Amino acid sequence: MDKLSATLRKDEIKMVDNKAFDLVIIGGGITGAGIALDAASRGLKVCLFEKQDFAQGTSSRSTKLVHGGLRYLEHLEFGIVRAVGRERKIVHENAMHVVLPEKMILPIIENGSLGEFTTNLALKMYDFLADVKREEQRKMLSKEETIEAEPLLESDKLKGGAMYYEYKTNDSRLTIEVMKKAVEYGAKVFNYSEIFEYIYDNNSKVIGVKFKDLLSGLDYSVYGKYVVNATGIWVDKMRKLDDKKAEKRLHITQGIHIVVPKTKLPLKHSIYFDVGDNRMVFAIPRFDVVYIGTTDTDYDKNMESPDIELKDVQYLIDAFNNISPKANLKLEDIESAWAGMRPLIHEEGKAPSELSRKDEIFYSDSGLISIAGGKLTGYRLMAKKIVDIVKKRLKKEHGIEIGNCITKDIKLAGGEFPFKYSMIRLIEYADNMYDEAKQTGIDVNEFKKIFYRYGTNTEKITNKAFEYYNEEKNTKKAWLKAEIWYVVNHEAALRLTDYFIRRTGMIHFHIKDIEPIKLMAADIMQEFLGWTDEEKQGNIDEMNEELKRATNFL
Ligand SMILES: Cc1cc2nc3c(=O)[nH]c(=O)nc-3n(C[C@H](O)[C@H](O)[C@H](O)COP(=O)(O)OP(=O)(O)OC[C@H]3O[C@@H](n4cnc5c(N)ncnc54)[C@H](O)[C@@H]3O)c2cc1C
Repeated sequence: MDKLSATLRKDEIKMVDNKAFDLVIIGGGITGAGIALDAASRGLKVCLFEKQDFAQGTSSRSTKLVHGGLRYLEHLEFGIVRAVGRERKIVHENAMHVVLPEKMILPIIENGSLGEFTTNLALKMYDFLADVKREEQRKMLSKEETIEAEPLLESDKLKGGAMYYEYKTNDSRLTIEVMKKAVEYGAKVFNYSEIFEYIYDNNSKVIGVKFKDLLSGLDYSVYGKYVVNATGIWVDKMRKLDDKKAEKRLHITQGIHIVVPKTKLPLKHSIYFDVGDNRMVFAIPRFDVVYIGTTDTDYDKNMESPDIELKDVQYLIDAFNNISPKANLKLEDIESAWAGMRPLIHEEGKAPSELSRKDEIFYSDSGLISIAGGKLTGYRLMAKKIVDIVKKRLKKEHGIEIGNCITKDIKLAGGEFPFKYSMIRLIEYADNMYDEAKQTGIDVNEFKKIFYRYGTNTEKITNKAFEYYNEEKNTKKAWLKAEIWYVVNHEAALRLTDYFIRRTGMIHFHIKDIEPIKLMAADIMQEFLGWTDEEKQGNIDEMNEELKRATNFL
């Protein structure tokens, strides 16, 4: 397996059956992907299983920021601010097509929890701890400057503001780019493959797993010197599968985001604002929409397909109208929404928003290693911790020596640009690619969407688009087919929802563009994946369900 291809999957699964690996990873979110890359790049034989699509758990449902964790300052967690703040620079440099700087405005309002003094102090500490680049360091703003920067913030309550930087990302794309790189280093990774049982030796030590290929319904086994449980909100369930007496360690909370077209909410900048109940909320413009989030409420319902409750949608609408009475946002302005669940570490007596976002490792008597909590931003450091543990055990228990972590210097798939980050150089690079691509008639904005999804791999899609364009002279179809060809053959997209949700994020940012191409996309996937008509219809029905879930609030 040197590429993550849906068409090779069936044979690859048969090839791993009953085989032995150094490390078996359960869970294909950002945590599992990061561990796979770290371990494979240190030379370990790695096999990873994901029961849904890659990133279909929390890793496609976040606020989509690679951020230094200003919030940790409130909890006086200086070590985390330092580590995570510095880490965002590394994540950005290794994947600059999907992790880009974003100017943020933090409005200061009368009777808000953040005064001018505390905001200035917190951001100053943040600049220092996170080693923020000079040009991205905080700038305090007067009331007039704040309104000039973001006219929608004008209100009697506004006292001033601050400007600082976060990094925006596309969480599922980041996860998939990490996963693809792990595959380049030799990892075997499978989506739609669920672990349902552990395999033990005579000493009750876990030495492997049984998994079901959810597409064929067939069961297989693989063996591993070590097994890591990186299943996010399912970590407790997978610990219990190993040990019925394992105690609950997670506290699951839900966070939703609402999406509003820019025509209804013409926000110029991202803002991070005080809600008045000790919580802060982001509003982030992206393409033709603005998304606002998030909430933080206890959750114990459907983990795989969370619904969105009307009261949470209303909470975000009210929060935004409070900071921007001018916006006068209404329920009918909301185009769609998404919900995700946080795998937080349980702390007795604490409310959701008081819980730390730190990660934690749990060790089971069987040798199973579990990891949960944390953030997208710290995924590389979480992976390093796990593989360092494996390194120690390998030496002690098997006399095998492996090297230290090298992922700091590994460019992720699509991030292999021949220059160090500069926005100007990145734009020049994209412009040069567009100069060629435009001969197929593609619009510059459509091309940009592709470029900021696939980075340096855009070239492969462009070459295919030329091929298809030369056959039919249909620009739209040529590019749709080329992109689907890429995600099927290089990103293991197996279902229509994989394309519209985790590979492109269209369901969040361009939901209105889905309907006109949905059936064409289904026909193309049918051609590439050999679906029967019944299977194609099943995929369309599933996509319709997802569209309903994103637009109907309970
Ligand atoms: C609303 C919200 C906003 C957030 N915003 C941010 C943000 O802006 N920035 C940031 O850095 N972090 C953010 N986070 C946190 C971040 O998204 C999570 O920490 C991260 O995505 C967790 O990744 P994970 O891989 O541990 O879990 P997941 O992504 O959930 O991955 C676990 C995977 O395990 C799979 N699995 C479960 N059981 C099995 C099994 N039996 N066999 C095989 N596979 C299995 C699941 O299907 C799942 O895909 C946010 C979280 C939420 C909920």
